[in-house]
Amino acid sequence: MIEDEQFWGRQIPLPQAPVNSATGITALKQVGNRLQCQRCTHLLAPTDRLANGEWYCRQCLQLGRLTSQLELYTIPEPNRFVTAPTGGLTWEGQLSPQQERAAQAVQDYVKARKNHLLWAVTGARKTEIVYPALAWALAQGWRVAWTSPRVDVCLELAPRLHQAFGQVAQALLYGGQEEPYTYCPLTICTVHQLLRFREAFDLIIVDEVDAFPLATSPMLQHAIAAAEKTSGCHLYLTATPGDQLQKQVANKQLAVTYVPLRYHGHLLPQIDLRVAWRWRAQLSKNKLPVALIRQMKAYLATQQRFLLFVPHVVDLPVITRALQLAGIQGGVTVHAADAERTAKVQAMRDRRIPFLITTTILERGVTFPNVNVIILGGDDAVFSTAALVQIAGRVGRSADAPSGEVTCYCHTHTKRVRLARGMIARLNLQGRRLGGRK
Ligand SMILES: [Zn+2]
Repeated sequence: MIEDEQFWGRQIPLPQAPVNSATGITALKQVGNRLQCQRCTHLLAPTDRLANGEWYCRQCLQLGRLTSQLELYTIPEPNRFVTAPTGGLTWEGQLSPQQERAAQAVQDYVKARKNHLLWAVTGARKTEIVYPALAWALAQGWRVAWTSPRVDVCLELAPRLHQAFGQVAQALLYGGQEEPYTYCPLTICTVHQLLRFREAFDLIIVDEVDAFPLATSPMLQHAIAAAEKTSGCHLYLTATPGDQLQKQVANKQLAVTYVPLRYHGHLLPQIDLRVAWRWRAQLSKNKLPVALIRQMKAYLATQQRFLLFVPHVVDLPVITRALQLAGIQGGVTVHAADAERTAKVQAMRDRRIPFLITTTILERGVTFPNVNVIILGGDDAVFSTAALVQIAGRVGRSADAPSGEVTCYCHTHTKRVRLARGMIARLNLQGRRLGGRK
């Protein structure tokens, strides 16, 4: 027998009704002349059939195959949690006055069950800003999900929340996770995993809401909406909201709290634009822009460590070769599928290497103290406006080195680079009003 609590706020596919009070709905339901998946809303194609004639949903296949022989069983979320007046918060850190103000605003919106965006610059420590609101919600016996489109964000977050909320039972869910599901007040999961829930959460915190692929995935947007109780609310967290969210803010459809200063009170570094005419044609002859070579040599001479961002994985060996020819050595390349990625990032953190040559994989989620950043080919389409702002945000992360240089070499000035500079300038204007330093 499957325990009742396995069904609380969830939708579990089974071939027949379990021996408890769970109620089921057809997993693939007739809508007009098509079948629609009730887990992910995918409309089935005529080809979505198995050899035995059964229909199945290919869109949410990763979560286990949903066929026309199954029903989705659920029991309404009962919020059966033991609560503490502190919400189980064991974190003893201090918020700055700016963080404190934002934390209060977030808490007020959560208390009013209003959807809300926390727009906090990179390095503002937005996670800690959310702690008071989360503690309040857990003290009320709310069920909370902290979710992100990116699994690495979840993996990094889970131990932090475990430490900050030491008295709260927590579950971490992501694809390929070995641990069995447990019913608990705080669930940390990828947005994908929310497809297993139905009207479960009183509060859903969506971390790095602009990260790929949430903005362009109706399935994942549905996952958040369906996992939220009808009486629930959500809180979006990001340093770089996309066009849709910015529009909602501008039209006053979504409330926003800005945190324009980093935790140490300094402004974001602005992107310094340099034209590198026909840099790609030069590169095909194993040459790099003269100004770039000069800048890198100057950094190496003063032991200033840095990250060199390049557009594509295929550029890495070509650029390494061109650097060697120019007499620059010691850099290490890294990209998404690199088996030694973790070790290389650690070597950079430990100051064992002077610079990394990287694709956009290191645009967010990693912190190296006291680095400068160079972007080669910032006009390539791979660098979105958000990516450029995130990359600039790698600089000046620590309190003892709160500023630094961001240089972007482009063949032409593109709209994306202009927009990125514009976003940084606007946030810094707000930051200056709050006494932010350069
Ligand atoms: Zn589906």
